Amino acid sequence: PITENDIIEDHLITVCVRKRPLNKKEVAKKEVDVITIPSKNQLIVHEPKNKVDLTKYLENQLFRFDFAFDESCTNDLVYKYTAQPLIRTIFEGGFATCFAYGQTGSGKTHTMGGDFKGKDQDCQKGIYAMVSADVFRLTNSPKYRHLNLVVSSSFFEIYSGKVFDLLNNKAKLRVLEDGKQQVQVVGLVEKVVYSTDEVLKLIQKGNQARTSGQTFANANSSRSHAVFQIFLRSNNNMSKIHGKFSLIDLAGNERGADTSSANRQTRMEGAEINKSLLALKECIRALGRRGAHLPFRVSKLTQVLKDSFVGSNSRTCMIAMISPGVSSCEHSLNTLRYADRVK
Ligand code: ADP
Ligand code: MG
Repeated sequence: PITENDIIEDHLITVCVRKRPLNKKEVAKKEVDVITIPSKNQLIVHEPKNKVDLTKYLENQLFRFDFAFDESCTNDLVYKYTAQPLIRTIFEGGFATCFAYGQTGSGKTHTMGGDFKGKDQDCQKGIYAMVSADVFRLTNSPKYRHLNLVVSSSFFEIYSGKVFDLLNNKAKLRVLEDGKQQVQVVGLVEKVVYSTDEVLKLIQKGNQARTSGQTFANANSSRSHAVFQIFLRSNNNMSKIHGKFSLIDLAGNERGADTSSANRQTRMEGAEINKSLLALKECIRALGRRGAHLPFRVSKLTQVLKDSFVGSNSRTCMIAMISPGVSSCEHSLNTLRYADRVK
């Protein structure tokens, strides 16, 4: 498995997979773990032959990624091989994007937003906070200090094709494309920040907004994409973005399959999620292929990320999250197949 000292190559697109441990409930239910990670870039799904006898497997299915993180890996280690290598990009005037993809409960928010329930906040830090800490460190470093960069953050949610500001009481925002084909989220709060502690407060505020005040039909965050962004702007010209890091906690991919639900609302939301995840895959793939079709207008998610897909200096990383249990097998295979096709 992966260590502290593996080699990180510079790719336009990096695709990784992370397996979370079985949780207490699953252990109590004697849920079988069907995922093994035999090396630092391989993952095997041991799909059971039938639901009754879990000891008989279909042929093992092997997947290969840039990195595979097993259940012993910490957020720190995951960060080191996923988002951290992209930080340089935003200081050099480019766009970096990191996605957490996977079924509900697989660890997307744990990885990105961190876990604020625990007491020891340091070890629970997610990628949002770790990117922020590195960004502050670098803005003050001898290498980049002369750029006079100002750091700011925004945090919004895309739910059923609509944008809501998580830092402004979930105000509903419009997305416009101006005459220069620049996409703007009109009125989005972008708060200037000076420390990681300040960013942590914003994350907490946004996370609370994300899971509160919703209607009965969507009483959880699994149906929305959460977009946390860190902007670098030059103190001399705040109207222009120097670099931008977008960190996205995607909607549960299993929700995209809700297209045959009896509930009309659920069905429509499922279709929207499905559409956005498919468009996302195409947009990421296009990053690595000159002149490829870029269907960013197909969904709000890809539309608001347009500048990150068309930029000449853009880097993307996707972390596909996997629940290890046999009952998640089908969803895990869907996740792995999707991730497999991103690159
Ligand atoms: P998602 O956002 O994908 O729906 P969560 O991040 O909320 O999933 O994770 C579901 C639960 O599993 C949470 O209680 C979370 O703390 C826990 N969890 C997820 N990943 C890990 C991990 N790598 N190690 C320990 N606990 C984890
Ligand atoms: Mg979540």
